[in-house]
Amino acid sequence: MKPYRGTILRPDSTGEYLEMIDDALVIVDDEGEIVVADSVSILCERGRELREKFGLVFDEQMELDGKPIPQTHNIIMPVTANTHDHSFQPPGIDGPLITGTPTEGFGGWLPKTLKNGEYIAKQDVGRSRAMLAMKFEECIRHGVGATLQFTTSSYDAARAAINIGNDKGVRVVAGYVAMDQNIDSIQLGLQEESGIALRATEALLDEFGAACVAVIDRFPIAVSSETRRGLAELARHHGALYETHFDEQDGVGREKDIHKSIYGTASITQTLVDDGVFETGSRVGLAHSIHTTKKEMDLIGSKVDAGCKVFVRACPSSNAQLGSHFVEGAFVPFPLRQWEARGVDITLGTDRGAGRTSNVFAEMQKEHGRHSIETRPSFIDVLRYGTIQGLKSLGVDIGETRVSEGNPAEFTIVELSGAGAYWDIGDHYGNLEFTAARVIDGGQDSSGIKALWVKGRQLK
Ligand SMILES: [Zn+2]
Repeated sequence: MKPYRGTILRPDSTGEYLEMIDDALVIVDDEGEIVVADSVSILCERGRELREKFGLVFDEQMELDGKPIPQTHNIIMPVTANTHDHSFQPPGIDGPLITGTPTEGFGGWLPKTLKNGEYIAKQDVGRSRAMLAMKFEECIRHGVGATLQFTTSSYDAARAAINIGNDKGVRVVAGYVAMDQNIDSIQLGLQEESGIALRATEALLDEFGAACVAVIDRFPIAVSSETRRGLAELARHHGALYETHFDEQDGVGREKDIHKSIYGTASITQTLVDDGVFETGSRVGLAHSIHTTKKEMDLIGSKVDAGCKVFVRACPSSNAQLGSHFVEGAFVPFPLRQWEARGVDITLGTDRGAGRTSNVFAEMQKEHGRHSIETRPSFIDVLRYGTIQGLKSLGVDIGETRVSEGNPAEFTIVELSGAGAYWDIGDHYGNLEFTAARVIDGGQDSSGIKALWVKGRQLK
């Protein structure tokens, strides 16, 4: 049995907000089940029962099997969820290009966009598998318990990502990235035979189910309406997440212009709506979503009202690397208030490939720091974006991940760094906000992440 003493930060009974239990004790049994989780003062009242059941002794100090359990400045909190990432970026590439294992679809467009495409296309599957293993090991080091992986257009890469992620114990949702819109006039012409993505995605869903497979549209301009309709239908049929890159750059010479040249006057959002992406009962993830107009947000808001669950993935590292935060030289923050006003939930993604880290705590810190006082989210909010909202968007049942007796262990432990670990500053909200700020600081250094449990298995 493993005892952990510290402060519990966990979703409340609604699964929406975080609650805090100071000076708490959590015990995980040998099967990975949480058998004790409460404040020490309440557990003391259950002293005799706990002594008989688990050998837990409350005397001058607390002991389990004769070993003392000292109080710590550790926070026992939900695992972080990286809801936008890519597998994987082979070495030897300068710049933000994301690749998968070589297939016909992959080989078709890459040489057009990259000089050393030939080199990458020759990389063998063995190396790709090794890189996937490294990706998930990196997740574990950073306390990431769940992640969404765009695996580029390779069925093998998507399959390998799910299998290797499952082997390592991380919750992984991955998918074949569809891109069959052939546009010869545009440099980023993504070419693949129509139907490949549909067949690959359906095969993945049949093999692994919606808990592990997302239906992925590379970005709206890269997928034909015919394929998108098929993908949206597949997602609905299987209850799977529909995921795409969305409004990542400003309108000048980018997605919106290209979209116009293919679809005429309809907005990107309108095209997604027309192709059946935002139906009632659907779950949709939109990575980036930084330059969406008010009109398009209103349209998505009306779909949320009609029962479509929509999540936007703020990717602060990547938005800085790729210049997505800028319109004609002016800085534009991620429009989180505007999205939230329309019932859309915010989650965080590292977008590794374009981003520079796999650490979600670092993304929390960046997202918080990038706003003016009017739009700045609280530390508690960014902690929610990076944990429970992200997990929910990947289809995880929050109730099952809560640190409470009878549940499989699923939490990460962050040691508060530096001085001033004492957080009682008078009121409950103030204590929570201060703790959230400290935990985000502590989690940015992987050495501050002391443990990671996912689905009853200890990964770190
Ligand atoms: Zn991306």
